Amino acid sequence: MERLVRSCYKQGGYVFAKKAGSRTHGAGDERIARLASNENPEGPSPAAVKAAQEAVLFANRYPDERVDVLVSALKAHYGDYTFVAGVGMDGVIETLMRTLVDPGDTVVISTPTFSFYGLAAQAQGAKVVAVPRRADFSVDTDALIRAAKGAKIVVLCTPNNPTGNATSTGDVERVLGGIDGVLFLDNAYVEFSGIDYLPLLKKYENLVIGRTFSKVYSLAGLRIGYAFVPAWLQPYYTRAGTPFTVNAVSAAAAAAALSDREHVARYVTQVTAWRGRFAQELKYPVLPSDANFVMIDVAPHKSDDVVEKLAEKNVLVRSCRSFTGLADHYIRVSIGDTWENERLVRELNAL
Ligand SMILES: *Cc1c(COP(=O)(O)O)cnc(C)c1O
Repeated sequence: MERLVRSCYKQGGYVFAKKAGSRTHGAGDERIARLASNENPEGPSPAAVKAAQEAVLFANRYPDERVDVLVSALKAHYGDYTFVAGVGMDGVIETLMRTLVDPGDTVVISTPTFSFYGLAAQAQGAKVVAVPRRADFSVDTDALIRAAKGAKIVVLCTPNNPTGNATSTGDVERVLGGIDGVLFLDNAYVEFSGIDYLPLLKKYENLVIGRTFSKVYSLAGLRIGYAFVPAWLQPYYTRAGTPFTVNAVSAAAAAAALSDREHVARYVTQVTAWRGRFAQELKYPVLPSDANFVMIDVAPHKSDDVVEKLAEKNVLVRSCRSFTGLADHYIRVSIGDTWENERLVRELNAL
């Protein structure tokens, strides 16, 4: 019966980070250092947990289709922008593609980067064009603009996963002014960067900025993300989306998480300190990062071998081999709790 499956799904698909499997309840050296998925190691904010508990009591009712509890909280936090929400930023990306892309349209992606953009575009029948970054992983804005001629969507991740570097607002503005379509700016890690792209929203009506509650806000398991969108786009996004896609528990938790600034600040402080310590203490080159992870060049070792060996020592990190356009000697390491980071330094240096 497999002949019935669409040809684009006969192979490929999203490559997930290695999971700890059943070895989850150890102590001491048996504990697993989880540095593969860029999660905040501290649990969710107590305010988010309380809001989720209260919301679940009304789980017999369909959620508010406008996700008003979250949109109001976002407006209180960021100002009077237009917002849409989704099942993670992944859900936002999927709905955005569904809203704008007809079969045969072009979607341009700055690579190497997060793989889901290409998969979501392909699902709509798009022609996906990859524009490689330069050797230092900076964005070649001229090449991106050239490739974007007639394209519906250009995707740029900043800070970029997995390389960690951010693109300047000047370069982003150059791209915005040079393309006919929408620029989707993936800001999953922007809270760690100190860069603010929001002023560009007032100037350009082709800018969409995606954000997530999975990283600094510690809510990866609740699957909630959002985007700043131009006002013209919002009604169409809603029309294209799956009805009631954002559940009420996640929306309530996310809204509450926004207000716990200390919870966010604690992890940002940890990240800033450890980006420096990784660079100093590791024997391998650590690429400069504006995110809560670093990419490490483990040559002459191969990325998959290093990931395997670290897993044997109960340290989970991400191989970058699955990122198209990247050589096979990079790993991506999230900044976790201090004990996790220390174990990573010890075990990686001991390889
Ligand atoms: C983690 C991540 C996302 C989205 O995460 P969700 O959990 O779906 O919100 C999006 N883009 C990048 C680059 C990411 O690393």
